[in-house]
Amino acid sequence: MKTIIRNAFVVNEGSIQISDVLIHKQRIEKIASQIGIPNTEKINEINADGLYLLPGMIDDQVHFREPGLTHKATIYSESRAAIAGGITSFMDMPNTIPNVLTLDLLEEKYQVAANNSLANYSFFMGINQNNLEEALRTNTETVCGITDDGLYFSDEHGILANYPDYLEKLFSKSNTLIALHSEDDTIIKNNTLHYKGIYGEQIPIELHPKIRSTEACVNATKRVLEIAKKHNNRLHLFHISTAEEANLLSNQETIRSKRITAEACVHHLWFTDKDYQSLGANIKWNPAVKTKADKEGLLKALLENKIDIIATDHAPHTIEEKSGNYFQAMSGGPLVQHALVALLELYHQQKISLEKIVEKTSHHVAEIYRMKERGYIREGYFADLVLVDLKHPWTVSQQNIAYKCLWSPFENQLFQSKIMKTFVNGNLVFDTDKWMSTNNGMRLLFEKER
Ligand SMILES: [Zn+2]
Repeated sequence: MKTIIRNAFVVNEGSIQISDVLIHKQRIEKIASQIGIPNTEKINEINADGLYLLPGMIDDQVHFREPGLTHKATIYSESRAAIAGGITSFMDMPNTIPNVLTLDLLEEKYQVAANNSLANYSFFMGINQNNLEEALRTNTETVCGITDDGLYFSDEHGILANYPDYLEKLFSKSNTLIALHSEDDTIIKNNTLHYKGIYGEQIPIELHPKIRSTEACVNATKRVLEIAKKHNNRLHLFHISTAEEANLLSNQETIRSKRITAEACVHHLWFTDKDYQSLGANIKWNPAVKTKADKEGLLKALLENKIDIIATDHAPHTIEEKSGNYFQAMSGGPLVQHALVALLELYHQQKISLEKIVEKTSHHVAEIYRMKERGYIREGYFADLVLVDLKHPWTVSQQNIAYKCLWSPFENQLFQSKIMKTFVNGNLVFDTDKWMSTNNGMRLLFEKER
């Protein structure tokens, strides 16, 4: 049966227009005002008066923890939370256990997702010092890219961004997108030793951004940029967290012609170092949440197109794992259910337009990865859609958290906007607080050249 969404404010490609959207099977069949339907045809009709229809958010950085860390989260539990948050596609990081360092392990993850994921999915191939040749064999049409995020360069630890010789090798040989976590190990190590000298094991959590400092981010990002530019290769920088790094990035090219792209994460656009006092390790992330000036600088860079997209870096841990002293509390937190509503809150605060939110969470993610037939509300494209009520206040609480870990850094936060319905490949998967369908998402596909 077809579905028609009537009279929504359709936010797409830089404009907002009241329109009907007709969905047939997996795709958008027609977009027009007052689409006529023959009386004889049975159709599922949705009245969207006053509601906003957005292309589903495509989150290019999540850690859904399966396999190996399923006490924190699973592909099923977190894809379910993502759908409730208006995210219809995700790309997952390779630091599951075992680490995804072979193409066989990578395909095993796809198999789990094919059976369990409510959202569309792709999985990054992991890279470390031992698997360069294997990583370079990654199929660029069926895999989103190569990354080191969450992995160590060697058994002795270390972030890949600190190994320029190896980066040279990788960038000179790769024909696909390489996404990196850029922080400088040596600076972090020295800062840690410095504060350990003062506080021992009891380092106050608010020193996290002094340990994983601006300098650590800027140094590593400069190094990585230099190498990527030299080889004119496709580099994507994950979770840029400082205003200073944003200033190293260019807005002189169109999104399609950029060889270097960058991302900001929701938590870096929302929290500041002032929040450590009340939220403690619940806002401990790597890279760290930094100053108000950084937060504002990141948003400015997004609006100026120096930073291209917004992601979550959704990285759940259990409440126990987030507890203890500075060294014990793990870095990362769950975000997929609340990312889009948090961005819509920034819209209510008049900091960003709806068109820009959609560009940064959907259109440009699709462009960066050269994704096929997603990321826009267009006839013939997959019907990955989110219907939002901008005037439907609700508060995040234990009772409405969908994450397996059952906590959120947004607990007690009042949001003005609510995700009413989420469609994935034409299926209504989430409808007013209920999951309606167990239909699985699809594997994301990409153009060969990136
Ligand atoms: Zn990372």
